[in-house]
Amino acid sequence: MPPASATTDPKKTRPRKGEGQWALGYREPLNKNEENKKNDDGLNCAQRIIDVYSKAGFDSIDPADLRGRFRWYGLYTQRAPGIDGGKTAVLEPEELDDRYFMLRIRIDGGQLSVAQLRAVAEISTEYGRDTADITDRQNVQLHWVRIEDVPAIWEKLESVGLSTTEACGDTPRVILGCPLAGIDVDEVLDASEQIQQVYDDHIGSPLFSNLPRKFKSSIAGCSVYCVNHEINDVAFVGVTGPDGTPGYDLFVGGGLSTNPMFAKRLGTFVRPDQLSDVWAGVCGIFRDYGYRRLRHRARIKFLIKDWGPAKFREVLEKDYLDYALPDGPAPDLDPGLRRDHIGVHRQRDGRNYVGFAPKVGRVSGSTLSRIADIAEAHGSDRIRTTADQKLVVLDITDDLVEPITAQLEDAGLAVRPSVFRRQTMACTGIEFCKLAIVETKARGERLIEELEQRLPDFPEPVSININGCPNSCARIQVADIGLKGQLVTDDDGNHVEGFQVHLGGAMGHNAAFGRKVRGLKTTSEGLPDYIERVLRRFQEQKADGEAFAQ
Ligand code: SF4
Repeated sequence: MPPASATTDPKKTRPRKGEGQWALGYREPLNKNEENKKNDDGLNCAQRIIDVYSKAGFDSIDPADLRGRFRWYGLYTQRAPGIDGGKTAVLEPEELDDRYFMLRIRIDGGQLSVAQLRAVAEISTEYGRDTADITDRQNVQLHWVRIEDVPAIWEKLESVGLSTTEACGDTPRVILGCPLAGIDVDEVLDASEQIQQVYDDHIGSPLFSNLPRKFKSSIAGCSVYCVNHEINDVAFVGVTGPDGTPGYDLFVGGGLSTNPMFAKRLGTFVRPDQLSDVWAGVCGIFRDYGYRRLRHRARIKFLIKDWGPAKFREVLEKDYLDYALPDGPAPDLDPGLRRDHIGVHRQRDGRNYVGFAPKVGRVSGSTLSRIADIAEAHGSDRIRTTADQKLVVLDITDDLVEPITAQLEDAGLAVRPSVFRRQTMACTGIEFCKLAIVETKARGERLIEELEQRLPDFPEPVSININGCPNSCARIQVADIGLKGQLVTDDDGNHVEGFQVHLGGAMGHNAAFGRKVRGLKTTSEGLPDYIERVLRRFQEQKADGEAFAQ
């Protein structure tokens, strides 16, 4: 008789079929996405956009470029207006396509000068119907972009040192960095140079332009871990090394969406001068050993889950670096840290930074232009985007703190936001996203306003993240209250827009994914009532000293 733990289920004992790992010889494309990438590198479509599509118009675009390779340059067709969420899963992709594009501009490290922000603002007003969203990966997204205008947009971006290269697609996406890099009083180290180095060495390189799927990086020495290393594919986290010099602790394999996983520590210490090579090693392992057979298993988290951190580290050191990395310390994830940079705070050089909150990341070209003007008028040439859909202006002298605060508030940008405005995020949703089932941005804005009125003195930090579908672009699994868009049944038996509620997600020392509690669903209309009930009940029942965000 087999031991109790053994299985006789033939499905579980059968050796796994190849998962499409290139390094194991599975070079033949095993699905349509892989075939498209093999037929032509995603990076090659830029020239066709310039030479052909922008001149001949939308109908001239090869479908394999339109719904595939365009992403390598941050371009997605947006959702045609008026198609409700119930049709998302039943219509063919082309039936959901509008003739306009969403354009994602990558802002590595969230670092912008006044000139760069102004260029983005002008592109929005001239080519994007004045739309702009700050994303939770520090990018700016514009909408309503026409293919005819893309070359002019690229020219303008290039003139200020910005680009859309590999802003989407199966590529190394924007590199997250702390908005306070180089100025934060408590930072472990300034990672700006390493971010720039990885960008210069590897972004747009054909060596990494065909990955199994997207690859998200963060590199930061932030004292409050504001770039959320736990949920990046690769994350370098500032620590003080064994000999007392600063460097990085390396995490691999974080990601949300379906099968969420927190990144695993490899236990290595990476010196700043080694970082670009180590990044390339990790990305190379993903390229060569990542699973390409099934899209939903093609993230690096599945590889690290199967290999474990020890094997991953061994392969990295032996086959990709050719040297061993020393062991290093883990970051000290203090409880109770707020991971944003909102409000007015002192910089290392004695000046101040001012972090402020639009609602759910929604701004406009006009608002971005106003922010650029305000920053410049107060002596700053450095604006930053954050990983929480917020913005920060750096380098404000003491005498200008109040004037700049007043001007930002006057522009609708809260420097002293309510807890709800500070910590509510929303993804793109049905307004523009073809995968969406429900509306999110306007819903989020209204929710903030309602909660501010109903619970004006709510004292606790509480994060509310709103997604338009089961993907997790707005990080629902790690919010205190995560809302996953879906159709729900209302009291009259109608299928209407609503949300499945996840409660209790967190990152940091007590990282956990929110629990999907059976039966916890609300209609979109009933959302403010629902959240108000949850928060009031918490206040009534909480133990002494207990915070909503544990
Ligand atoms: Fe679109 Fe879903 Fe992502 Fe929201 S979570 S932006 S609806 S894919």
